[in-house]
Formats: sequence, structure tokens, C-alpha cells
Amino acid sequence: MFSSLKNKSVLVTGGSKGIGKGIARVFAEAGCKVLITARHENVAKEAAAELSKAGGTVAAFAADVTDYKSMQAAADFAVKTHGGLDILCANAGIFPQVKIEEMTDETWDITVDTNLKGTFLSVKACLPALKKSGQGRIIITSSITGPVTGFPGWTHYGATKAGQLGFMRTACMELAKFGITVNAVLPGNIATEGLADLGPDYENTMAASIPLKRLGRVEDIGYAALYFATKEAAYVTGQTIIVDGGQIIPE
Ligand code: NDP
Repeated sequence: MFSSLKNKSVLVTGGSKGIGKGIARVFAEAGCKVLITARHENVAKEAAAELSKAGGTVAAFAADVTDYKSMQAAADFAVKTHGGLDILCANAGIFPQVKIEEMTDETWDITVDTNLKGTFLSVKACLPALKKSGQGRIIITSSITGPVTGFPGWTHYGATKAGQLGFMRTACMELAKFGITVNAVLPGNIATEGLADLGPDYENTMAASIPLKRLGRVEDIGYAALYFATKEAAYVTGQTIIVDGGQIIPE
């Protein structure tokens, strides 16, 4: 139904694990040339090797989204390795669960630096290459927590995830003249290494409360991201898709 994304160059931040790896898998299966970035090079390389074995074109590069120079180097690597850059999936994020009274400045700052400032730095670093593409796509992994609901222990996280949408709603206006669209996927509870860190009680309680009675799969987020990347979505910008198994039905 959708035209091919074959040979499009994609950079996925936080692509070594979890949702980012799922996004990378879906884009690789669609024929894209994918670069996954993360801080731990070995893990990223292992993920790239696994996805390449399954038939994709996937490379890895060590980069920290909180460091602009590091993200510039990642964007340059994507251009050198894959001949350009068409799509940025700004996905890297952390979600330590801490209530306000126990929260340290350090936890607040690292969460904001990674999730919110990291989105800005990733976009800024990739922008020159996305402009050259002529039909660039920026797809942000936000969350239902923050933009549409709350969850105890996640004031800092929710603030960053809502902040990403504030960023998106102005970035889409600024970048439209370059043919770049900016959209966001809002996952619910997705089975990832990061979510597993919250413990089996959290996962089981959540799965029981979701109308579709399971946690999401990482590829569920990948397919939503893939839609925003298609040529057919060229007129869709500044928008969100909630992928949460029906957990939150906004009014
Ligand atoms: P995981 O912890 O499973 O994976 C996180 C990824 O981000 C890893 O590849 C990690 O690699 C990378 N990462 C973390 N910090 C940095 C950094 N400073 N620079 C570069 N890469 C970094 O997380 P999830 O897959 O669960 O989450 C991914 C995104 O999805 C996040 O933005 C999260 O907020 C969002 N999300 C997740 C939900 C879920 O239920 N899982 C629900 C809603 C949203 P490394 O440590 O090597 O850097």
C-alpha cells in the first residue's frame, strides 16, 4: 500500500536495545539503511550484527545524545556510511522512577539532559543532512506519561516527554520549509529492558490493566514510526500517534 522506503538512510538514537532496536528492525525490514547509536558501543555493535544477519543493512556508532559533538559525529558517520541521512528517530531516553521527595538534582538533570535536551541536540546535529535530503523526517519517541497522563515517580520523566511535544510543535513549523516533517509516537507500556528494570510487579499489574491485556512489543512502536517516514505521510507534521493497547483513551 505504501511506497517503498528502500535505501532511505535512518539514524535511530538509543537503537541498541528496546524500542530503538525494534524501530531499527522495522526500518531495516523495509529496506532502509539504518545506523543505530547508543553509548555502549559493544551492545550497539551486537544489535547491528543481529539485525544485519536477519537481512538488514545496519551499522552501529557510539554516541551520547547529551553531547552535541558526539551526535554531530554520528550524523557525519551516517552520511559517510549510507550516502546521506533522510530520517532521524530521536528515541534514546531513560526513566528512573523516583518520587519528588526522594529526587536528587542529579536525577532530575540527567533525565532532562537525556530525554529533552538529547532530542534537541540530536535534531540539531542531524539537521544539515536532513535538509539536504529534501524530504527529511524526524520521529520522536515520547510517551503517554507526561503528554496525556501521569504516573507516580515520574514527574521528571513526564516533564521531559511533554516537553518533547512542545519542541515538536514548533520544530515542525520551523522545518517545514525544508520539506522536513516532525512527528511523535507515544508508547504506552512496552516490553523492553528498561521497563523490565521496574520489576515484574510493575509489568504484571500494567499488563492486567491494559484493554489488549499485554505489554506492547517494540515493533508496535516501529510500525507507527514507519508510517510517519513514508512518502504518503508527507502532509502529516506536528502530530502524535498513541500506541498503548487502549490504556489511555484521550477525550
Ligand atoms: P531501554 O532502556 O530498553 O533502551 C534505551 C536505549 O537508549 C539504549 O539503547 C541505551 O543505550 C540508549 N541510551 C540511554 N541513554 C543514552 C544517551 N545518553 N545517549 C545515547 N543513547 C542512550 O529503553 P526503552 O526502549 O524502554 O525506551 C526507549 C524510549 O522509549 C525512551 O525515550 C523512553 O522514554 C520511551 N518509552 C518507553 C516506554 C516503555 O514502556 N518501554 C514507554 C513510553 C516511552 P546505552 O545505555 O548504551 O546508551
